[in-house]
This record gives sequence, structure tokens and C-alpha cells, in this order.
Amino acid sequence: MNWLDRQSFLGPDSDAVLENLVIGIVGLGGGGSHVGQQLAHVGIGSFVLADDDVIEDTNLNRLVGGTWADVENATPKVEIARRLIKAVRPDAKVTVHQKDWQFATDDLKRCDVIVGGLDSVRAKDELDAFCRRYLIPYIDMGMDVHGEAGRHLIAGQVVLSSPGTPCLRCLHVVTDEALEREGANYGAAGGKPQVVWPNGVLASTAVGLVMQLVTPWHGGPVESAYLEYDGNLGTVVPSALLKYQSRHPCTHYPATERGDPSFDVRRLEDQVSATPQLMAPQTFWARLLDHVTRLFDQRAR
Ligand SMILES: [Zn+2]
Repeated sequence: MNWLDRQSFLGPDSDAVLENLVIGIVGLGGGGSHVGQQLAHVGIGSFVLADDDVIEDTNLNRLVGGTWADVENATPKVEIARRLIKAVRPDAKVTVHQKDWQFATDDLKRCDVIVGGLDSVRAKDELDAFCRRYLIPYIDMGMDVHGEAGRHLIAGQVVLSSPGTPCLRCLHVVTDEALEREGANYGAAGGKPQVVWPNGVLASTAVGLVMQLVTPWHGGPVESAYLEYDGNLGTVVPSALLKYQSRHPCTHYPATERGDPSFDVRRLEDQVSATPQLMAPQTFWARLLDHVTRLFDQRAR
């Protein structure tokens, strides 16, 4: 018996697979803090966390792991997440960046999956582009509250965007209008309405997608997903938009623009050594390249 015995149905050697994964979480607020906590419970071995912010009193209604003492000490959100992860799993490797994720790309590049809990549409767009460039599946969470007193609607979505599948622009999570609106509102006082329980649903949905990507328990591979949350009905359902957009190739990220321009096959061992037992996409491509290289070597002899 070990501490992960009750989840052995996830697949043979799933403990080792999860132990060897590196998961990036960008934005450690209401959504990201939940994701970090759950991924620690599930047995993920390594984390890269990026968020430039410190906790404030207005975060306490939803930031999992945050305390009043943290507010008084202005504790960075990444440090709260690290503390929470280490409390569950003391041997987890947690790399934190208290800065914008754009300044943490060297560590984010080595992640097997990245989960985003970002408010800004521009940041979502840029992170999607980054993940596509480096062939990393990106899971984006978003939540909105609309309406007026007595008639509010809580809505949200979780999207899995992978190279070759519809991107956040294809799926209208990122639109020119939203980018313009955000640009025009830049610096406006007050944050968007946020509450803890929809964040919990969205974070759990995102963690479910991470697990579908990396363990075979559900019987089939998952490349893309668009799950819509209706907080008034309490439902999470696949969006018809993904089905529709899957018939059309993404025009925002052409196939010729995929892959890491600095990737050097001659340094293959160095590049995969950090995550030796994974079958996540980065490692999959690395192994495929390795295999093809060996085939050519054999033919040459
Ligand atoms: Zn697209």
C-alpha cells in the first residue's frame, strides 16, 4: 500500500508517471490555487508556478490556502501555492516565479502541461501562442458573472488547446473585441466579480483534463476540449462550438509555425533528461525523433 493506492485505476505505473510530470500553473489566484492543491493531492512531482502578485484582503473570498496572516504579510501568491503543495507532498519540486510568466519562459518551456488561471484576455492569447510554439497542451480557465441585482448569471469555461486543434481564438475565448475592450478599460478601478465555488468547479474540470492527457484511465486520447460551465444550472457540458470549429483548420497558428525554433536534435538527451518517463507530447515528439534518427543510422550502416 502507498498513499496513491486508491487511484491505481488511473493506469499501470501511474504513480511514477505523475511523479515525473512537470505542470506549469500561470496565475495563482482563485482558479490556479485550487489547481495547485488538487495536483499535489493527485501526486504530481514537479511544478512551475508564475504570478507576480501578492495576496490582498479582497482575494480571501476565493484564494485557496490564503490566510489573514498572509494578507498582513503581503505573501506572494506563488509562495502560498508552494506552501499548500508542499504541505500535501513535501518532496514535490516547486519552482516559483513571482513575476509575469513572460519572464519565466525557460522553466515554463519544460512543462508537460500548462494550466492558466488568467483574467486578462491578452495574457490568455499570449500564453496560448507560447504553448503552441513549444508544443505544450494549454488548459485555460475563465469565469464571468453577468447581470444585475437579483438576476445574476455565473458562466465559465475550460478549454484544452493543443497544437493542431482549435485555438482560443478559433473558440472565441480570445476575440479582437474583447482585446479592444480590455485595452480601453486598462487601469479602471475594481476587479471583476469572483467567487470561490465556480472557481472550484472550473479548477476540478481543468485537473480532470490534465489527468485525461497524462493517464489512460478513460480509454482514449484527448487533444482538445471546450467545457462550458453554467453556474445557475450547475452543469458542465461540451460546447458545440468545438465540434463545429474542429472541422476547420486553425488559421491563427499555421502548422509551419509549430515547434521550438531553438530545438536541437543533437542535444536530445539533455532536453528530455528532466522528464525521462513521460509520454506527454513534448517527450512523445522527442522519442519519435529519436526513433527516426536511429532508423536512419541503421540504414546508413
Ligand atoms: Zn485558431
